[in-house]
Amino acid sequence: MRDTRTCPKCGSKDVVEVPGGHDGGANWLPAGWGTVPIDRYICCACGFCEEWIRADKLTKVQKFWRDR
Ligand SMILES: [Zn+2]
Repeated sequence: MRDTRTCPKCGSKDVVEVPGGHDGGANWLPAGWGTVPIDRYICCACGFCEEWIRADKLTKVQKFWRDR
């Protein structure tokens, strides 16, 4: 969905990106003492929502969540 801009559920191309964190959507994942932003891709035809964490934040997520 992030790359295709097409909804995998209904096939619509009416997909919007809502950046996580301070950039817009205020969507966060807790990771230790801090948080990482979660970007969302939302289909405006059916409401399906896909969430992505940016590649440069994955090490932080892995460190905090892997060994819990
Ligand atoms: Zn859809």
